Amino acid sequence: MSGILVFLEQRDGMVRQASIDLWNRLQEQAAAGAEPQPLSGIIAGPASTVGIETMLSGSGTIYHVSSDLLCLYQPESYTQTLAELFERSGCSSLVFADTALSRDLAPRLSVRLGASLLSGCSGPSAIGAGTCMRPVYAASVVASFAAEAERRIYTISSQGPAALPRKEGAIVIVPVDDLSCEPSRPSAFASRIAMTSTKPDVSEANIIVAGGRGLGSADAFAMLDELAGLLGGAVGASRAVVDEGWRPHSEQIGQTGKTVAPRLYLACGISGTVQHLAGTGGAVMLVAINSDRHAPIFDVADFGIVGDVHTIIPGLIKEVREFLKKK
Ligand SMILES: Cc1cc2nc3c(=O)[nH]c(=O)nc-3n(C[C@H](O)[C@H](O)[C@H](O)COP(=O)(O)OP(=O)(O)OC[C@H]3O[C@@H](n4cnc5c(N)ncnc54)[C@H](O)[C@@H]3O)c2cc1C
Repeated sequence: MSGILVFLEQRDGMVRQASIDLWNRLQEQAAAGAEPQPLSGIIAGPASTVGIETMLSGSGTIYHVSSDLLCLYQPESYTQTLAELFERSGCSSLVFADTALSRDLAPRLSVRLGASLLSGCSGPSAIGAGTCMRPVYAASVVASFAAEAERRIYTISSQGPAALPRKEGAIVIVPVDDLSCEPSRPSAFASRIAMTSTKPDVSEANIIVAGGRGLGSADAFAMLDELAGLLGGAVGASRAVVDEGWRPHSEQIGQTGKTVAPRLYLACGISGTVQHLAGTGGAVMLVAINSDRHAPIFDVADFGIVGDVHTIIPGLIKEVREFLKKK
């Protein structure tokens, strides 16, 4: 039994960036490994697969179960469909990007399939070995876990896009229409309230401009919105800010918020407590702006600016505007 089946999560008919990044990182790792494991994928629900071969690196078969019953996440239908497809695939590992959906679905599948569950892994590097490293106690300790069962299910924290260029290969989409997606004990879907936003989600953004209590007010976040908009990034927030009601919880980063992995994390007026930094470990570059030169954020920052956010950020906005005008 070998091979890795990757769940390519769709939302509103589009495969999520976190799943694409995970696939590409696994391909990168397969290329480097002595005994690479074949990769295949599954898309559940009526999603668009147009152009998917240009987003997914390397080769692999993508099984697409396009039943309308899988349009929105319903635990029973998803568990049934994925369990059946995983059995058929003969793969030893089923891998998910660590999202709200996979945190609900992976434990159900682990029970159904008698598979070991390794959740919140900090990277895909040990999948072949059946082990996983996971930050615990607000990322102050890294624990190592080992799977005991032959079949394993992993959820992997976001690490952002793959570091190496896309590998050429053949991605083959195989429609699967002979699975019964009808659950034996269905729950009725009542309604879905969509939060409409055209801004990128912090968990998938390449650039995050995050604000803390040092911003001083909800109104001051307008300048972060402006800067993030110019850079094509997302606005993030510390818990202090969310508790104040200045920003929604969906933007909170940290132990009780989201884990992020942008190329650039700009921390503005954030002190850098261990609970906040529990969510920023995947950032490639962290730049901090803080008026207190002894703020703990400077211990982890790649670049630090000691100063008042109300002066530095408008200055940055001006510079970025001028730069973009010249381009
Ligand atoms: C169980 C638990 C879970 C938690 N989970 C999270 C979590 O998920 N995410 C999270 O963020 N926190 C979390 N916290 C809270 C965390 O401990 C901190 O309270 C919080 O991160 C502090 O937010 P902050 O940095 O915005 O505010 P503060 O700690 O108050 O820091 C504000 C910073 O702004 C600077 N500043 C002030 N004025 C200016 C200015 N004009 N210009 C520049 N800098 C300025 C100050 O020097 C200071 O460093 C959790 C706490 C607990 C107990």
